[in-house]
Amino acid sequence: MSYKFATKAIHAGQQSDPTTGAVMTPIYQTSTYQQKAPGDHKGFEYSRGTNPTRKALEDCMAALENGQFGLAFSSGMAATDCVLRLLKPGDEVVTGDDLYGGSYRIFTKVYEPMGIKFTFVDTSDVDAVRNAISDQTKLIWVETPTNPTLKLADIEAIAQVAKEKQVLYVVDNTFASPYLQNPLDLGADVVMHSVTKYLGGHSDVVMGALLMNDEDLYKRLWFYYNACGGTPGPQDAFLVLRGIKTLHLRMKAHCENGRKVAEYLKDHPKVEKIYWPGFTDHPGHEIAKKQMRDFGGMVSIVLKGADLNETFRIASQFNVFTLAESLGGVESLINHPATMTHGSIPKEIREKVGVVDNLLRLSVGVEDAEDLIADLEQALSR
Ligand SMILES: *Cc1c(COP(=O)(O)O)cnc(C)c1O
Repeated sequence: MSYKFATKAIHAGQQSDPTTGAVMTPIYQTSTYQQKAPGDHKGFEYSRGTNPTRKALEDCMAALENGQFGLAFSSGMAATDCVLRLLKPGDEVVTGDDLYGGSYRIFTKVYEPMGIKFTFVDTSDVDAVRNAISDQTKLIWVETPTNPTLKLADIEAIAQVAKEKQVLYVVDNTFASPYLQNPLDLGADVVMHSVTKYLGGHSDVVMGALLMNDEDLYKRLWFYYNACGGTPGPQDAFLVLRGIKTLHLRMKAHCENGRKVAEYLKDHPKVEKIYWPGFTDHPGHEIAKKQMRDFGGMVSIVLKGADLNETFRIASQFNVFTLAESLGGVESLINHPATMTHGSIPKEIREKVGVVDNLLRLSVGVEDAEDLIADLEQALSR
């Protein structure tokens, strides 16, 4: 049966509990499961490998990405790490030049010293991706929209390159969420999520996920998932199952508020530059229109004539927005990428891709837009 998005968000992977009729998936707080005879069990042996609450969540997230298989991890980084374990010394990876800071860090500080080579290119340029591929390239890792300058990569065009060159193709879909964009439908092999963000949606869980259609790939990844053990507990799985039930409602509100905030900031005298893919003059606007259902709730601004001190001063003046790392929760957050989320990227590298000292990133929440705009007004005019 193929249901639409909201129905899947509320029901996929979840049936009433067969023993009690409980409508909500129980939190199976157990590490182990009884076997009638050695090997004679109900599909669950030990919770590092499989747990019923986590399984319901994995099936639900896979359904939202139009995938057959899902794996949940104790963080987005654990999910990324699981993919990288498929690589061997000498292998190469082609990836974006303005990645999430933690992805850049695991690539350059953990896997590069183990003999894997990473080439960073502007993934909004398909030819740059194609030209960076060598005979040793085993993985293309793309983030779109990027963080924090919201550059767009053409998921389908890069999928053609990946197919042509027979390279595994992973899309980090954290910023868009499955509500706005489904990379598996556009030819990606695996979708990665920091579930911590929009999927969880309430800033109360750290979790990651990998979703895919290929069973053989799923089995290879499941091996590392179970062998290395970065799997989340049932309580967190329950919280995310609950969060996902309103994903479609939250995303509509994030997009609507994101639009209002972006339009307000566009002509503000203190704003030198604004990044939001909904504007027709945003360089990725046409790609966004083609592959996303709406433009999302992430907005970045460069403050006019502000040095680091002035930027810090403004970032600390908010009453409704909270100054904090992360994004995608119901509450609005403001972040200073240069020193917070992207602090692990060297200054000259981050500045090249626009992560300057006077850049602020907004994760627009689902409060009343009028209150968010009034808060921006007072913080920028003080
Ligand atoms: C937060 C984030 C991650 C890392 O996920 P964690 O859950 O924090 O480990 C990866 N990619 C993107 C785009 C992110 O925003």
